[in-house]
Amino acid sequence: MTEETTNHWALTRDQRDLRARARALAEEVIAPRAAEVDRTEKYPWENVAALQENGFTGMTVPAELGGPGHSFLDAVLVVEEMAKVCGVTGRIAVEANMGAISAILAYGTDQQRRMAADFVLAGDKPAICITEPDAGSSASMMTTRADKRGDRYVLNGKKHWITGASVSRLHLIFARVFDDDGTELGIGGFLAIRDETPGLSFGRREPTMGLRGIPEMEVLFEDMEVGQEMVVMPPSGWRRGFGDLMNAYNSQRVGAGTVALGLATGAYELALDFSKKREQFGRPIAEFQGLQWMLADMSVKLEAARSLTYRAACSRGVGTDGTTGPFPDPAMAAQAKIFTAEASIEVVNQALQTFGAAGYSRRNPLERMYRDVRMFTIGGGTAQILRTVVATRILDRKLPQTRDGYVT
Ligand SMILES: Cc1cc2nc3c(=O)[nH]c(=O)nc-3n(C[C@H](O)[C@H](O)[C@H](O)COP(=O)(O)OP(=O)(O)OC[C@H]3O[C@@H](n4cnc5c(N)ncnc54)[C@H](O)[C@@H]3O)c2cc1C
Repeated sequence: MTEETTNHWALTRDQRDLRARARALAEEVIAPRAAEVDRTEKYPWENVAALQENGFTGMTVPAELGGPGHSFLDAVLVVEEMAKVCGVTGRIAVEANMGAISAILAYGTDQQRRMAADFVLAGDKPAICITEPDAGSSASMMTTRADKRGDRYVLNGKKHWITGASVSRLHLIFARVFDDDGTELGIGGFLAIRDETPGLSFGRREPTMGLRGIPEMEVLFEDMEVGQEMVVMPPSGWRRGFGDLMNAYNSQRVGAGTVALGLATGAYELALDFSKKREQFGRPIAEFQGLQWMLADMSVKLEAARSLTYRAACSRGVGTDGTTGPFPDPAMAAQAKIFTAEASIEVVNQALQTFGAAGYSRRNPLERMYRDVRMFTIGGGTAQILRTVVATRILDRKLPQTRDGYVT
């Protein structure tokens, strides 16, 4: 990112210093390992340690819980730098700062907030378990159930495509809740800890196109029993709690968009550099207008994406519908993620084109970035579903999705 961008966003001196520290770590420590992480498909524990040692996990944890109390924009600046060189490490930085942790910090009891804060400050990236084989975009049709048995809950069901499940310790699980007498109460959030909570286990790992250093896992609940202290009670209670829990997901969405932005910025910078060095017809290819316009288009898309992403990160408590809350505004987060994900895919594609055959070689990071960036119109709400979120806001009405009307 150029210094001019800094001025547009009026980043504070602390934010510029934070970003400089993140950039140094990314370039010196994370970048040299990125190809290996992709090739071996192993979770990069060394990168996690480096993030943690530099204070880049648990950034949004408030001071009273032992954290530095950074803003979402601060976290975004760090995520962007990591993703410029390694999409996987960018995603870890998202989940360790603005994923499930946001929901727990906002809705959890004091004890839960302290526990979650301790996990992320120690480098854990909590997993968020919503999606099921038959409930993807229509997440509220999930069938994983939590049956109340006195003051305990027994969970049964299966999730899939859960990022980092099996390497994460803390898991936030969404389930349909039933009272002792079988009455359905709504959808709630439950905490479970790998290697501690009996009945929590992991199934198949999905072989993914990109972002291969983080496992995408099936998560299984077989009579997984937790006490009341592991229930994350949304402010609206069970009945309308799903909305609260999904609202918390908006911070993760901004983070996911930032990973796409970082990947595309990294690809653009490589292309810019290459275009000045590679010569054909006796001159650098950057002197050909065909490439100049391609590079110009890439820079325009990136600056627009960055503006939307930073705006969404700063929208905590300043929603366009007048709502305030502890998370980014849903419509701004959706607008940012739609545009950034789509523009970033285009930018990485154009950057690869700039390299000619070299871009198609696995010796070159562009092919990895191309595979990595493709995810971001899918995970965390598809580009289609997010358009529905935006339409809901601009039309000021809830839009029916099922043949019978609204999803209940
Ligand atoms: C790499 C990766 C990581 C992920 N990580 C997590 C995670 O950590 N936790 C988690 O819970 N989930 C995770 N997911 C799951 C992700 O959130 C879902 O894939 C996503 O919500 C879409 O669900 P689906 O894949 O079942 O697609 P489907 O819902 O089956 O959709 C298929 C297609 O239909 C379109 N579509 C569906 N309904 C509509 C509609 N009403 N209007 C218009 N188009 C529609 C979709 O946009 C899509 O193009 C991850 C996914 C990926 C790829």
